[in-house]
Amino acid sequence: MTGAALTGAEEGREPGVALTLPVAFAVSNDGPLTGRAYAEPPHSYRSAFQRDRARIIHSRAFRRLAGKTQVFTDRYSDHFRSRLTHTMEVAQIARTIAGAMGLNEDLAEALALVHDIGHPPFGHAGESALNEALAAHGLSFDHNLHALRIVEYFEHRYAAFRGLNLTLGVREGIVKHSRDYSLAAHPELSEYFLDLRPPLEAQLIDLADEIAYTTADFDDGLESGILQLSHVRAYVPLLERFYSAMEQAHSSAPPKLIFNEALKRMLNAMASDLILETRRRIGVSGAVDLEGVREAPNRMAAFSAEMEAMRLQAKRYLHDHLYNSEELSRDHDQATKVVRDLFGAWVADPALLPAGLEPAIESEGIARIVADYIAGMTDNFILAQHRVWIESQ
Ligand code: MG
Repeated sequence: MTGAALTGAEEGREPGVALTLPVAFAVSNDGPLTGRAYAEPPHSYRSAFQRDRARIIHSRAFRRLAGKTQVFTDRYSDHFRSRLTHTMEVAQIARTIAGAMGLNEDLAEALALVHDIGHPPFGHAGESALNEALAAHGLSFDHNLHALRIVEYFEHRYAAFRGLNLTLGVREGIVKHSRDYSLAAHPELSEYFLDLRPPLEAQLIDLADEIAYTTADFDDGLESGILQLSHVRAYVPLLERFYSAMEQAHSSAPPKLIFNEALKRMLNAMASDLILETRRRIGVSGAVDLEGVREAPNRMAAFSAEMEAMRLQAKRYLHDHLYNSEELSRDHDQATKVVRDLFGAWVADPALLPAGLEPAIESEGIARIVADYIAGMTDNFILAQHRVWIESQ
């Protein structure tokens, strides 16, 4: 086997471990996963997945990610991640990992770019509020399924069809990158091979997402002043092991720069661990190609047990000290109120909604249509809608 290998120096692993998988593991640029619902002639110099990446980047829903909260609303700093810059970090990490493993980089990048496109405004607080509002109508909000609705229906840019007419590979990845769906509960998803695992390019996305936000949230969390460096060092071994090494290597550097050096090594260690553990699991499984990956009983993309334990510890720390901090809970409370108020007002009086939604309300019910409308909004747009509604009361 040829291709890239870890040097071992930084990762603390044995040198010379081959990373690149045989080409039979990668999703092919001319296989069945390049199929589209509406047949289109091939492009003369772009692959099907490169075209999907372009369609995603040029979509309205992608542009709106710039106005959606990742963790911090824009009252904190212009430097912090939005859902758009988070998405770009996931795309960078996913593309690097896919490239190192010899997988289809363009498919991995397209999936990363689309992975959060179904998220409502106000981050997870907005999603919980929307989910709670829908529960009263016997429904629920699922950002993966909402992303599928966006790319199949809400985006309207082409004369010949509705939606972006993305490849089957990208649509399957949108549905399955972070969880499995049963055919019994979701017969509408029957074309997405629900009894099979997704390709490795899709399996990587959720873990690239974990790597991106775990590192980024320590960065923005410390910069915001909500997290304290000495406390993080005491309770997050995943970061501390790199911080102490960098403190020794750069003894006169300011703590912020030592922290940056530690954080980028933490990101690198997580990515390298993911590659090596995934390779190890593939080896143990005996799979020799994409079909073997798909038919395996479990997903093969994973962190090692040691890294997974440290990652979960870091994630719990972020939950306890950042996401559920008193400081951020003010934003969460406001998000919940805004979503709840507008959902209730629009369900009670559909005449307040934009014109033209009547046929959709007729076929899908008012609650789902109001949820779709809210889910598409940026933070600023929904806040403006809320001010208009307050003034009308
Ligand atoms: Mg994400």
